Amino acid sequence: MKYCPHCSASLTLRTPEGDNRARYCCDSCNAILYQNPKNVVGVLPVYGDKILLCKRAIEPRKGKWTLPAGFMENGESSLEGAIRETKEEAGAELAIKSDSLYTLFNLPTISQVYIFFRAELSNLKFSPGIESEDVSLYKESDIPWSEIAFPVVKTTIEKYFEDRRSGSFPVRMFTVRHHADRSISTELVSCSDVQTTDTNRITE
Ligand SMILES: [Zn+2]
Repeated sequence: MKYCPHCSASLTLRTPEGDNRARYCCDSCNAILYQNPKNVVGVLPVYGDKILLCKRAIEPRKGKWTLPAGFMENGESSLEGAIRETKEEAGAELAIKSDSLYTLFNLPTISQVYIFFRAELSNLKFSPGIESEDVSLYKESDIPWSEIAFPVVKTTIEKYFEDRRSGSFPVRMFTVRHHADRSISTELVSCSDVQTTDTNRITE
């Protein structure tokens, strides 16, 4: 960030008085440009024993499979954003139940929070949007595990098929860290069903 969005003066990176970290500050109009984590919201769309995946038509991870998800827009709720992304990327309509919240991932290394909801597809009408090359239903045995775009998506899908076997879908929160050696670790830090608190650490 170089110029003030309010008055176009040059910005200075410094710690404002009374603050404890550096911010972009405008010494012309005194604006402080706070930068905070971004929320990414998505859906795990289910139809019978299958789930809907989108093949990415854009970078990053072009050609890899993912769940419909994207950045929240101002003025919408996390669930509204997830439904919108599913419509945009997969052309799909969802039936939302009251237990839709499913996984939450903190990604402090890249300052993002991912939230995924579980929802049934309303019907079999779906088609790739502009950000998708393909949209397809997959049963567990056909999931292209090595072609999944992001660790948060892979973890959400893995937990879903595990949970299907028990019939219980607790809400889980993870912290994902990107390490200097390019490995990524995923740690479960909270689970709404204490019986299934498998505090395992997955490293890729
Ligand atoms: Zn300014």
